[in-house]
Amino acid sequence: MEVVHISAECYPVAKAGGLGDVVGALPKYQQKAGITSKVVMPMYRTPFLYASNWVVDFKANAFMGAWEFEYTIIKEANNKLGFDLYLVDIHGLLDRQKIYGYSDDAERFTAFQIAVVHWMSHWSHKPTAVHCHDYHAGLIPFMMQHCYDYQNLKDVPTLLTIHNAQYQGWMPWAQSMLIPRWDLSKKGLLDWGGSINPLAAAIKCASKVTTVSPSYMKELMHHANGLETLIAAEKNKCVGILNGIDHEVWNPATDSYLTEHFSPKSVTAGKQKNKENICAQFGLDPTKPLFVFIGRLVGEKAADVLPGALHKAIQTYGTKASYMILGSGEPAVETAISNLAHANDHIVKVSLGYNESLSHGLYAAADFLLMPSRVEPCGLNQLYAMRYGTVPMVRSTGGLQDTVVDMGDEGGYGIRFTHASETDIVDSIGRAIEIFDNKKHLLWMRERMMQINHGWEQTVQSYTRVYDSI
Ligand code: ADP
Repeated sequence: MEVVHISAECYPVAKAGGLGDVVGALPKYQQKAGITSKVVMPMYRTPFLYASNWVVDFKANAFMGAWEFEYTIIKEANNKLGFDLYLVDIHGLLDRQKIYGYSDDAERFTAFQIAVVHWMSHWSHKPTAVHCHDYHAGLIPFMMQHCYDYQNLKDVPTLLTIHNAQYQGWMPWAQSMLIPRWDLSKKGLLDWGGSINPLAAAIKCASKVTTVSPSYMKELMHHANGLETLIAAEKNKCVGILNGIDHEVWNPATDSYLTEHFSPKSVTAGKQKNKENICAQFGLDPTKPLFVFIGRLVGEKAADVLPGALHKAIQTYGTKASYMILGSGEPAVETAISNLAHANDHIVKVSLGYNESLSHGLYAAADFLLMPSRVEPCGLNQLYAMRYGTVPMVRSTGGLQDTVVDMGDEGGYGIRFTHASETDIVDSIGRAIEIFDNKKHLLWMRERMMQINHGWEQTVQSYTRVYDSI
């Protein structure tokens, strides 16, 4: 079996969030299970690019509208990641520092997809399946089936995995000329709500669709940023498969970002040492419970509620706890959080930006991880937190409700709440402060959650069943 993953992110090559983690791990564990798994992604100017050796695998010219462009496929030479990694270089378009956030992202990802399909159409063999991740690869199933130049890929099965349906890659119809000559009678497959919608096109054209948790699959039928009726109509080809975590990367006993390693047996002392390091670095009191938020500062994550909630928590619980926020996102939220930190200097700390190393340090140091997300397709942070003995505090939604059991329930090890509201967050912080003082119960929860197996092995089997079915 040979699977080709097409994605905008892949850890450690380029990562902005969970998509990168998944595409860095799933192929690795597929290889271990005997599946030939490849990843194809754009060539950005990231540190990984310069720290690795590359060989040119293919070079050709393709058209995007009237623009003829040259693309080069380079392959990582030393099998560093445990699977074949290919980068698509399109000079001037993809070779930039950031993954997303440019005004010509539609052109960038369309050209990327054209190059990938053009290249695959020149292969001497056909892969078993082409696995597209999110909207950046969403036009690929359509192009493989309905572009005249790629008809030799028509019968190759395709799978779409939806990591996040909020972002759909909308393009105005004027941009339809960017897509290589296609069967105009299939216009309806590209369209959703009057514009080209790459995510919708992939839902319609892919042989099967997966979401990154079973609950998210159900939620999408009611909340999918406009795609609800489409998902409901296609529900027979949709299945929710919970993400795994890479136990080799996320292991507190070996994590290369940590200086103080620990296992379930040494969790109390190990976490305390990590907390002392972080608290010394940021000027916090290491004897108090440490609450951490890590993530994009956007509405989806309910980051806008955090400043008000933490302000109320400080009013309610005073200096009984410390809070640390790592993330970046909406400017208004960044400002509100920075102001809160400024006004409560010894209690609240903020680190704006993306910092992989600090994130590992915080999972290890924190007592509690706050995730009040409004939308959470799977959520990896809570899984990493649990692996590091940090109690997850989550809103009951999507993958969070599939993975966290409230400590009030039989065998529970986390804190769950219903609303992304200040009141629910403040009440949950109260519950957390109480449990922090009950050292015996806290230790039991830490040991329990650290031993839960969220490894990729079972997830790989679920994906294999899907490939088999297509
Ligand atoms: P998302 O919706 O952002 O993909 P996930 O929970 O699926 O959310 O995955 C988030 C991933 O990104 C985790 O690995 C988390 O540690 C990481 N992450 C998010 N923000 C930051 C940041 N500012 N610095 C470092 N890592 C971050």
